[in-house]
Amino acid sequence: MITVADLWTRLDALARPLPGERVPLASAHGRILHEPILAPEDQPPFDRSAIDGYLVHVEQPAGLAVLEGTIQPGSPAPAFAPSPGTAYRVLTGSALPPEKAALIMQEDTKATDTGRVHLLQPPSTKHIRRRGSQARAGDMLLSSGQILNAGALALLASVGATTPLVSRPARVAHLVTGGELVSPDTTPAQGQIRDSNSTLIAALLRDTGAALIWQQRVSDSRTATADALTAALATNADVILVSGGASVGDHDHTGALLAAQGFTIHYDKVASRPGKPFIAASRDGRLAFGLPGNPLSHFVCFHLFVKRVLARLAGTEPSALVRAKLAPRAELRPDPRETWWPCVWADEGATRRVLPLPWRDSSDLTVLGAAEGLLRVPATAGAGAEVEVLPCR
Ligand code: AMP
Ligand code: MG
Repeated sequence: MITVADLWTRLDALARPLPGERVPLASAHGRILHEPILAPEDQPPFDRSAIDGYLVHVEQPAGLAVLEGTIQPGSPAPAFAPSPGTAYRVLTGSALPPEKAALIMQEDTKATDTGRVHLLQPPSTKHIRRRGSQARAGDMLLSSGQILNAGALALLASVGATTPLVSRPARVAHLVTGGELVSPDTTPAQGQIRDSNSTLIAALLRDTGAALIWQQRVSDSRTATADALTAALATNADVILVSGGASVGDHDHTGALLAAQGFTIHYDKVASRPGKPFIAASRDGRLAFGLPGNPLSHFVCFHLFVKRVLARLAGTEPSALVRAKLAPRAELRPDPRETWWPCVWADEGATRRVLPLPWRDSSDLTVLGAAEGLLRVPATAGAGAEVEVLPCR
C-alpha cells in the first residue's frame, strides 16, 4: 500500500498545470496568477504631496510667502518649484515639480487675508512621496503562482493590468454512487441514508475555486454506474470524482469501470486512516479519483489528495503542513496506518496548540463542521509533543 507522502509525489507528477486564460479583473478574484507583473513605470509615477498644505522652494525659510495659486490633485505638476518668497496651495495627491520643492503642513501655517501665508516653521521634503519610492519601472510587483486576493487585484488595477493571465478553474464532474442514498430533502426509508457527499464536495470545490460542472447520483447497479460514468466522461471535465464504491465489495465498481474506460489505475489503496480505499487513475492527462463513501474518509481524501491536485492544476503550491504543539493530555489512538485526525487550534498565549476532536469512525460527520485541520499521527509510533497539521480551512 502506498504511503500518503509517496502518493503526494506521484500526484504532483500526474497533475500538470492547466493552461491559463486572460480574464477581466472582476473575474480574477481567487485565481492564480500565471505571469509575473512588472511595474510599467515608476511607482508613484510622479512626486506628489502626502499632505494638505503649501508647496514652496526648498530654501524657503519660516515667515511670510505670497500665495500664487492652487495645484489641484489630478492637474499636471508645475515644471519648476515656486521661487523663494512664494507658495502654492497643495492638497493630498497634488503633483509636485521634480526639483527644489518642499512642503509645509496646513497645521504649521497661518493664512493671512492679504493673499499671503505665514509659515510658522521651515518647510521640509519629508511629506513628498517621491517618484519611484515604492517601485521602479520593471520591478516585479507580483510573481507568477501568487493568488489574486483583494490586495493583489487592487495592485493590478493601479498599474492598469486589467486582463491578467490567470489559472482556469479546473472543471470537475462528480458521480455519487450508492443504492442506499436519498436526496437530503427526502425522509429516508428504513435502511436508507441521506447523501451528504454531494453537498460536501460541491462546497469544498467552491472553497478551492474549482468548477463543479456535473454532479449525479446513481444506484449501485453496474450498468447504471457505467452509464453515469460515460456521461461524466462526455463532459469536458478535467477531473472526475467518484464517491463510494472504491473498495472491494460487491457494489464497488469504480476501479473496474475506470479501467474499462481506458484509465490506468495507479493506486487503489493508500495507507491512511481514514481514507484507505482511494483510487487514483488517469487517461491522456485527464484525472479520475475514487473516494471512499464514508463522509469523514471523503473529507480526508479530498483535503489530502484532491485539493492538492486542484492546486497543482491551478499552477500553485498545495497547502503546506503546519508544525504545532499538541495540547496536553490529548489522546490519540496510534494505528498501523498514518492517521489524519480532525482537530482545532487551541492557542495558549503565544503557543499555537492543536487539539484533536473526538471521532468514532470514518462515517462520523459530527466533527466535520468544527474541524480546522487534520492532525497527522504517524503510523505505529503515534504522535509526539510536536505534530504536523494540514489546514483545512
Ligand atoms: P462505500 O464507499 O460506497 O462502500 O460507502 C461506505 C459508507 O459510506 C457506506 O456506509 C455508505 O452508506 C456511506 N456513503 C456512501 N456514499 C455516501 C454519501 N454520498 N453520503 C453519505 N454517506 C455515504
Ligand atoms: Mg457504496
